[in-house]
Amino acid sequence: MPDAAYDNGNIFSKILRGEIPAHKVYEDSDVVAFMDVMPQAPGHTLVVPKAASRNLLDADADVLARLLPVVQKIAIAAKTAFGADGITIMQFNEAPAGQTVFHLHVHVIPRHEGVALKSHARGMENGDVLASHAAKLKAALAV
Ligand code: AMP
Repeated sequence: MPDAAYDNGNIFSKILRGEIPAHKVYEDSDVVAFMDVMPQAPGHTLVVPKAASRNLLDADADVLARLLPVVQKIAIAAKTAFGADGITIMQFNEAPAGQTVFHLHVHVIPRHEGVALKSHARGMENGDVLASHAAKLKAALAV
C-alpha cells in the first residue's frame, strides 16, 4: 500500500508556521532545530527541514543535502553542551518503523556511557528544563 500524502496539520508543520511554540536552537533558510519535548536523554534535539515531506522516503535529495550538515553541526555542539560521550542519530519512516510525527526530522541525542535511552515519545519534560537545555545548546552553537 502506498504511504499517505503529506498532511500540513502535523505538529512540526505548525511549529514551522509559528502556530505553536518550540524551544528553537537553530534556524537558517532551509532548516530549524528545536528541543524534543519528550526527550529520550537530556539535550535530545530535532533537526527539521522547512520543506514539506512526510519522511526520508519522499524528500527531495537537495533538501537532504542541506539537512545533514545541520545535523552534524547540532551533534557536535550537543556533544560539548551536554558533556556527552557520544551522539545517537535516529530517523524513522512511517508508523511501523516508529514514526509518530509525519514531517521529516532527524533526532540528535547526547549519550553518556552506561546510560540507556528513555522510551521514545513518552514523558513530557518540564518547560524550564527544556529552556535551559536550549540555552546550553545555543551557547555551544555560538562558539
Ligand atoms: P518520531 O517518532 O520520529 O516521529 O518522533 C517525533 C518526536 O517528536 C518524538 O520524539 C516526540 O517526543 C517529539 N515531539 C512531539 N511533539 C513535539 C512538540 N510539540 N515539540 C517538540 N517535539 C515534539
